[in-house]
Amino acid sequence: METVTTIRAFQIARRTLKGSVGFVPTMGYLHEGHLSLARLAHTSCDAVVASIFVNPTQFAPTEDLAAYPRNLERDLALLESEGVELVLAPTSNEEFYPADYNTWVDVLGITQRLEGASRPTHFRGVATIVAKLFNVVQPQRAFFGQKDAQQALVIRRLVRDLNFPIELVLGPTIRESDGLAMSSRNAYLTPQQRAAAPVLRRCLDHVEALYDQGERHAETLRSEMTKILQAEPLALPDYVSVADLEAMEELEMVTDKALVSLAVRVGKTRLIDNTILPRGQGLF
Ligand code: AMP
Repeated sequence: METVTTIRAFQIARRTLKGSVGFVPTMGYLHEGHLSLARLAHTSCDAVVASIFVNPTQFAPTEDLAAYPRNLERDLALLESEGVELVLAPTSNEEFYPADYNTWVDVLGITQRLEGASRPTHFRGVATIVAKLFNVVQPQRAFFGQKDAQQALVIRRLVRDLNFPIELVLGPTIRESDGLAMSSRNAYLTPQQRAAAPVLRRCLDHVEALYDQGERHAETLRSEMTKILQAEPLALPDYVSVADLEAMEELEMVTDKALVSLAVRVGKTRLIDNTILPRGQGLF
């Protein structure tokens, strides 16, 4: 595995990769969710590239950029054990955002809702860094997790609208044994908060069960999730949503595929999770 810290060095190393390239962008502090994407990439690509970059532009000034967990040495060992061929891990933010940086990618519409409503500048940062990474890495396929479902839909829009010749592949959400979706941010949780955190998965399990029993009123599904969250004193809901997959608007009735998602604060940590109805359907 080769690790490079500059775009220039990456471009030189990229030329030595033969065949199709799969790309797994990450912000590091890797867990099984990230590694599952590297593994998935190897099933359809000749070589796998990963990036490790805590992208400052997707964090609001009040958010956890400075505190975001980092462990580059461990991350590189994990990627090497997965057989990843090339890693781009810039050591300075100026590599992607020099002092005179002035171009932004704004996906309109779906970025205003859910995560975008709570974090108004977040998706502009995500779309900008993903577009820049796609230009630098030039992969044939790029791999993202369903854990960040709205992000995946934003990137699909970006790829279509800006004609990136890249196939997007989505991997399933990887969970801890008690159902908590793996996330680098889980490291922030105290033991007591960690014990409360599976409440997100419990909400989704309940919605899936109600749907299986024939419940199609979206408001009932949303209020059932709220009830479960209210019973968990350490959980402070940000949103619960049952939305369509195109405009991400709240539904009245679930008649087609729907994205059930929620964001919850447990202490200072903001956790997200989602499922697609009908159960087992893919996001795209
Ligand atoms: P991050 O490092 O959090 O920006 O995530 C990098 C990629 O890993 C994104 O495509 C995420 O959706 C994906 N990812 C994060 N957590 C999980 C998980 N628990 N299961 C599957 N994919 C994940």
